[in-house]
Amino acid sequence: MHDELMALAGRMAAEGERPAPTPPDPVNPAMIRHWQQALGDVRDWGGEAPPAMLQVWSMPGPVKAKGPTAADAALKLLNAHGFTGVVAVNCEHVYDRPAKLGEELTSRSRFGGVVGPKRTAMGEGYFVTWYQSWYAGEERIGEMLFRVLKFQPVRRRPKGKPTPPAIGLDTAFFWEGAREGELRIQKCGECGVLRHPPGPMCPACHATRQEHVVAAGRGTVYSYVVHHHPPVPGRTPPYVVALIELAEGPRILGNVLDVAPQDVTVGMPVQLTFQRLDDEVTLPQWQPAGTPPPPPRAVPEERSDWPALELPLTPTFVIATALATRDFTPVHHDTALARAQGSQDIFLNILTTMGLVQRYVLDSVPGASIADLKVKLGAPAYAGDTLVLTGFRDGDTVTVRGTVSLGDHVKATVTLR
Ligand code: ZN
Repeated sequence: MHDELMALAGRMAAEGERPAPTPPDPVNPAMIRHWQQALGDVRDWGGEAPPAMLQVWSMPGPVKAKGPTAADAALKLLNAHGFTGVVAVNCEHVYDRPAKLGEELTSRSRFGGVVGPKRTAMGEGYFVTWYQSWYAGEERIGEMLFRVLKFQPVRRRPKGKPTPPAIGLDTAFFWEGAREGELRIQKCGECGVLRHPPGPMCPACHATRQEHVVAAGRGTVYSYVVHHHPPVPGRTPPYVVALIELAEGPRILGNVLDVAPQDVTVGMPVQLTFQRLDDEVTLPQWQPAGTPPPPPRAVPEERSDWPALELPLTPTFVIATALATRDFTPVHHDTALARAQGSQDIFLNILTTMGLVQRYVLDSVPGASIADLKVKLGAPAYAGDTLVLTGFRDGDTVTVRGTVSLGDHVKATVTLR
């Protein structure tokens, strides 16, 4: 497949520019006003269109199928070979000059290239790039680079939650301990023998008085299996189910996390960790001894030359901006469909993100003119979240960062003229 893809990419790149869907309307005040109102842009653009509207002019309507892009053949081949996932990673605009009211634009597109295969957090994939340009007559007014990652989705965990453990009178102390970050091992109140799993009576002296100790959290793999099949709700196979021999003596079942199943060995030293499933259940689990604690979440860059712009992403905002940028993709307005496709909610579309970055830069640097706007896309900006834009300037370069509760939604580099 790789060789076939690369050969195809070479032929596609050699084709050069070809006609793309023609904007049906001239650059007009009604679409600009609609766009400005939805995005909260109060600027007086005079006789010009906001540059970030570049792609808006040629967006198809909701019922018309999207016209073929210059990358379709490569995307199709990747789909056919299991690279069915797609996520946009870059959108870059270059503005040669603003479009003027009344201008009838045309559009052309060309294939950029394919890079891969690359291992990514989403799965193995190829980056596919294409370009679209807009012209007034023979004069190019702007160009967009668009890059997606086509990936083989990693096997999804089966739907549903893991089966909760049965918590009874004999085991309640164990699960309470786990919630508090303690691995509690039952101890006979008479003879002091440690035992696990917990039970009502001491197997050594038959006493029923119970106490417990808190295990130090060190052990070794006594035995293990790698679970491949059948699917278990809430678990992603393959995973390791191990019998861990505690430093204190008793053995306990758990999963060995943070290690490839093939790297687990009998006798391997392990350390305790906890996996919180919900408010009720936290599982004591295991990881190779010496595994460092997870790094704290990246702290957003503090530097901002200007006040942060906080945008509450109400459903109305997400939907109004999607429609005002003429993006009718259902994940931007249809909550039920977005959720059925695995999204948390509807989310902001890319044309809006481009427009908001432009708005923030022009609000922050009055009188500026933007030559290009390059965006790296990150976490989705879901309805119900808040998008916070911050930025700073270095000469003619402005860096804008947009964060949501999941992390970075956008990192943009903007060149001023
Ligand atoms: Zn006993």
